[in-house]
Amino acid sequence: NTPLQQLDPEVAAAIDAELARQQSTLEMIASENFAPVAVMEAQGSVLTNKYAEGYPGRRYYGGCEHVDVIEQIAIDRLKELFGAEHANVQPHSGAQANAAVMHALLKPGDTIMGLNLAHGGHLTHGMKINFSGRLYDVVPYHVGEDGQVDMAEVERLAKESRPKLIIAGWSAYPRQLDFAAFRRVADEVGAYLMVDMSHFAGLVAAGLHPSPVPHAHVVTTTTHKTLGGPRGGVILSTAELAKKINSAVFPGQQGGPLEHVIAGKAVAFKVAASEEFKDRQRRTLEGSRILAERLVRDDVTAAGVSVLSGGTDVHLVLVDLRDSELDGQQAEDRLHEIGITVNRNAVPNDPRPPMVTSGLRIGTPALATRGFGAEDFTEVADVIAEALKAPSPFPAGTAAALAARVEALAAKHPLYPSL
Ligand code: PLP
Repeated sequence: NTPLQQLDPEVAAAIDAELARQQSTLEMIASENFAPVAVMEAQGSVLTNKYAEGYPGRRYYGGCEHVDVIEQIAIDRLKELFGAEHANVQPHSGAQANAAVMHALLKPGDTIMGLNLAHGGHLTHGMKINFSGRLYDVVPYHVGEDGQVDMAEVERLAKESRPKLIIAGWSAYPRQLDFAAFRRVADEVGAYLMVDMSHFAGLVAAGLHPSPVPHAHVVTTTTHKTLGGPRGGVILSTAELAKKINSAVFPGQQGGPLEHVIAGKAVAFKVAASEEFKDRQRRTLEGSRILAERLVRDDVTAAGVSVLSGGTDVHLVLVDLRDSELDGQQAEDRLHEIGITVNRNAVPNDPRPPMVTSGLRIGTPALATRGFGAEDFTEVADVIAEALKAPSPFPAGTAAALAARVEALAAKHPLYPSL
């Protein structure tokens, strides 16, 4: 029995059950990944006990000599990984990283531009009841008919509304953004450009996606998505903005940094600089390309299923169910029934309500971390295609056969065998 099992068997049992769920199902939520055991070891360490308000070498608490070492390693590795002039590794999450940047660069009432939530943007990019929508005047931009961000609209809206900040980034978008074009627009209207690369940071680190760092004043990212580290956020910026960003994080937005999480971030940045990580990101991209290809075959589109923008350049595919009798909720439930976890997602101009939606967001990072290669991604893509084109109600025999194929894939690539 572990100390946790002895002290709190209820919580221990739920954690064990969650481990079994992660091991036995296929995780295809695009924002999720599996952190290395070493990252979890750092995160579960005695660092959780330490207060360290301030920054390395300038703390408001004693006893920070060791956490200083750790935080400085995290900062140095992060700057090196992305070629950034300045890095802050303290934001507790992606949302808090974004809040800190806005706190640093804006005053309440200033105008910001971000990709509309229903078109793939994040809550913190100006959603009405999020802090970003409540504190700032939001001018959303959109994707066009082709499913790609409409840069002509971005330019027109920027010239009309003269925002202080333009946010480029997304939570559900299958293509790459033109960072240079965003910067040109920002410069024309005197706005800051912030790129939120939360979703694609791992691809950038591996050199498989253009880097926003040379173009943006500030870049934010979560550390737990394609980057594959502990849950958290970080901010990169020019040297010029370093002071503003640091004081907006602490004391502007947060108190004591989570040094145990920062240690996990440091380990994850070391991993992200490795060849093995590059290979993983390559397989991530290959997997999403295979998925997109197999979901636009004639037998699948005949069932009203297609893929937004016709394909993908990143680690996810957006399935369009507007012409399908299945809605997003039903499709998510069907995949859940056979052991594949995804999330339903609104598509642009979605005719169904937000709790139901007409789309699915399916990502490949977690399976790539598990070791999936082209052959495995082809198999999982075909399983998904079979599930989505099956008649309603989902025939029990079909469901059982597909669940067995999912089980075989999970068994082929064991997750956390040492746990
Ligand atoms: N930014 C983007 C683009 C995201 O997709 C997310 C997470 O979904 C966040 C920020 C927020 O990250 P967190 O959930 O860590 O607050």
